[in-house]
Amino acid sequence: MRSKIVAGNWKMNKNHKETESLLTELSAKLPDTSAEVMVAPTFVNLASAAEHMESSAIEVIAQNMHFAENGAFTGEISADMLLNIGVDTVIIGHSERRAYFGETDEILAKKVVAGLGKNMRIMFCFGEELQDRKAGNHFKVVASQLKNALFGLPASAWTKIILAYEPVWAIGTGETASAEQAQEMHAFIRNTLTETYDAKIANNVSILYGGSVKPGNAVEIFSKPDVDGGLIGGAALVVDDFIAIIKAI
Ligand code: PGA
Repeated sequence: MRSKIVAGNWKMNKNHKETESLLTELSAKLPDTSAEVMVAPTFVNLASAAEHMESSAIEVIAQNMHFAENGAFTGEISADMLLNIGVDTVIIGHSERRAYFGETDEILAKKVVAGLGKNMRIMFCFGEELQDRKAGNHFKVVASQLKNALFGLPASAWTKIILAYEPVWAIGTGETASAEQAQEMHAFIRNTLTETYDAKIANNVSILYGGSVKPGNAVEIFSKPDVDGGLIGGAALVVDDFIAIIKAI
């Protein structure tokens, strides 16, 4: 059985003190849930956040990492460094990394392999842009993103992968995919996995939706059978909103 997951991607927000107080407040208000709850603070605050949340049910995860083991890569962070501070789940391929930092499918494939090689869990993000959807190419784009970065992996890798479908036109825009659009794409992703691997792998992988999830739309989006939770940006920075979204799952 696949897990339900609600993850907060804090992006480049919250300084050290704000990070600590947001974590404290989230822990205090965390409802009883069978879902996995995760938060991804910035790198400078990651070690202290991981320590702060050591005995908490909320998992601290990373927003990114480099594929190299170590060495002359100024400004980068390795899998070992994350593991060393107790972080073993990492977001790879967020659309902002693709759009602003030139991360291609090829680079992302290397990051996935590097993380899996260290036994990390990978939350892999992908999704079409507005022009793709308008042209009716969204299924094609998503299929090729998955194929290029993930379908070279052995079947055994899939127990460590979480998928996050994030249509770029819905991220931070206030425009959400309708629950039907999310379900349609998630079902397509699961079918593609069945065709590429098998039904067992397809049924066991959690597929999250991301893109302007708010307390007001979370219940409907999460009610869809192939939507296993959400990757939350803006609303994850507001304690009561994030808690409401957790309750919606
Ligand atoms: P948003 O961001 O919820 O602010 O749209 C989602 C994401 O980028 O993961």
